[in-house]
Amino acid sequence: MTRVLVQRLAIIGAGLIGSSVARAAREKHLAASVVVADADPEVCERVRELGFADVVSQSAAFAAEGADVVIVCVPVGASGAVAEEVGPVLKHGAILSDVGSVKGSVLDAMALHVPAHAHLIPAHPVAGTEFSGPDAGFASLFENRWCIVTPPEEAHEAAVEKLCALWQGMGANVEVMSAQHHDLVLAITSHVPHLIAYNIVGTAAHLEETLTSEVIKFSAGGFRDFTRIASSDPTMWRDVFLSNREAVLEMLGRFTEDLTALQRAIRYGDGQALFEHFTRTRAIRRSIIEQGQETAAPDFGRLAAGKPKHEQS
Ligand code: NAP
Repeated sequence: MTRVLVQRLAIIGAGLIGSSVARAAREKHLAASVVVADADPEVCERVRELGFADVVSQSAAFAAEGADVVIVCVPVGASGAVAEEVGPVLKHGAILSDVGSVKGSVLDAMALHVPAHAHLIPAHPVAGTEFSGPDAGFASLFENRWCIVTPPEEAHEAAVEKLCALWQGMGANVEVMSAQHHDLVLAITSHVPHLIAYNIVGTAAHLEETLTSEVIKFSAGGFRDFTRIASSDPTMWRDVFLSNREAVLEMLGRFTEDLTALQRAIRYGDGQALFEHFTRTRAIRRSIIEQGQETAAPDFGRLAAGKPKHEQS
């Protein structure tokens, strides 16, 4: 059994990530009490039914009051507003954190509202699925996944360590870096790939009707994996692109240049260039599998008979 690290853990936003944090904290006994808040009364009702919180409230301030650690798990565009709501009630020494997929803009938006006696330590668990809401979460979501912690330069060392220990307690491997570096890395590893998926699925949807039905029929040729990514939550991803605009545009620029090089190789029949490129990319896939960040299963190990991985027997 893991030791209790936190007396009162408050989670604001009970979707996929928030409910997974609550479930993991309870299952591993990381917090004496888990308090969950969500702005949506129906979500609150569902959280009560699912039973993964000791206290459920619609009020973020109520949940945060007296909490040792408050983790904001809402779409990144709403993080600043939540910080404004909870800032005045944060107790002395409290840690205010989040799980947002973008860090620089979230840090700026939240920092304005954090009193000097509390510690703002943003973080991003690099784990998730295309599903949303409190039913989608599961306790093992963060196991053997990275959680990137992005403390501001002047952050209190003990508070950073406490947050890292909490994520390690949930099974994550922790890496500490600056918010700016995080945003650049995630732009290429997550944000641009999502944009490409949204784009290619959109292109298929615009084809003439007969062609679109054949795309769906023969989707196992590669298209199917893009559709999984392109079914991710629209609110979350709108906020990600608007919040990480500069890094995404920088990486998109490089991507476009490389795509043009491939286009030229195809146009001029340069098989050697294509072969060398595909050999290099194949090696990257192998190293991801070797590092335990993916399975070699052709369906990416995530879905069997339409069920999320955690529901598979
Ligand atoms: P989600 O399943 O849609 O859950 C978000 C929850 O927060 C919803 O219940 C939402 O209620 C609620 N909410 C929104 N604004 C709120 C507010 N002001 N106060 C209280 N509750 C509020 O989203 P998610 O996938 O868990 O994503 C949450 C965060 O995790 C995002 O910042 C995202 O960038 C980050 N993240 C996501 C993934 C992933 O794969 N999904 C991975 C890593 C990190 P409504 O439904 O009523 O809006």
